[in-house]
Amino acid sequence: AAKEQGKNRFLTFETQMHEQLLNRLDQEARLRDAVRRGELRLHLQPVVGVAGGRMAGAEALVRWQDPEQGLRMPGSFIPLAEETGTIVDIDRWVLLEACRAVKRWQDEDPATAPAWVSVNLSAAHLEVPDLTDQVAHALSSTGLSPHCLVLELTETVLMRDLAVTAARLDELRELGVKIAIDDFGTGYSSLGYLRDIPVDVLKIDRSFIDGLVGNGRQQELVNAVIQLGHTLGLRVVAEGVEEASQLSLLTVMGCKFAQGYHLGRPEPAADLYSRLATPALHG
Ligand code: C2E
Ligand code: MG
Ligand code: MG
Ligand code: MG
Repeated sequence: AAKEQGKNRFLTFETQMHEQLLNRLDQEARLRDAVRRGELRLHLQPVVGVAGGRMAGAEALVRWQDPEQGLRMPGSFIPLAEETGTIVDIDRWVLLEACRAVKRWQDEDPATAPAWVSVNLSAAHLEVPDLTDQVAHALSSTGLSPHCLVLELTETVLMRDLAVTAARLDELRELGVKIAIDDFGTGYSSLGYLRDIPVDVLKIDRSFIDGLVGNGRQQELVNAVIQLGHTLGLRVVAEGVEEASQLSLLTVMGCKFAQGYHLGRPEPAADLYSRLATPALHG
């Protein structure tokens, strides 16, 4: 009887494994189809000029309108997309939609339009041989000026193979697009790559902005990073600004751009447009 029970336990375990596998395969398939079925949504979050308090640029952030689970945040599907390679299709879609949305806004109402849009690229994407062609195609098919496009990469991605990465980024920058280091300070930071890799924008990770108020040591650190960025001629953006007091400190430190819930949450591109564009243009 003990032997029988053991066998049943094993079967149950095997059934569970089997279910998990099927579940994963199902998720993978649904995610792969999401792009084709038009289930992805483009959200934009303003990047604000600290001096004037107005939107200067915007970051494109993807959402998945999952028919089974509702609106999903990137944290719940990007990791699977990265494992399976679907991320390349997702990023290509976001790139095109972001260029299209911002170009249209610039044409319709240049006074309120973001001067640039930044798009996140995954590690896998940097290895796609025709990445530069994809970017060139997104620009030419939408008419967006290359100077208005920023590609965001994390330190960890940039550090993978310095020589290959540098060559890749040179190609992209020859098109006229800008490169940003995303989540600066959280990866395997090495000053070496600031020397070797051509970048234009430095985004200070929100973990450095969180707890800034009342922490003198952290303030010195953030201040030093801002000055370093400016010395290197980079545009510095503080991420994750949630409070007015954080913004005040960053202003004193000379930080020129900030992004965060205090300044504007990510929202559908059309909603942001409705809120910010000149009222006469959309009734
Ligand atoms: P990220 O590129 O660092 O984007 C900033 C994230 O911080 C966004 O989360 C944004 O909603 C959130 N955020 C902005 N302001 C605040 C704030 O004041 N407080 C807090 N707590 N959070 C804030 P989201 O949209 O969930 O995206 C998470 C990450 O997913 C992004 O981090 C990016 O790495 C990745 N991601 C998003 N869209 C794409 C995409 O189209 N392609 C790729 N490859 N990755 C993407
Ligand atoms: Mg980003
Ligand atoms: Mg970031
Ligand atoms: Mg981040």
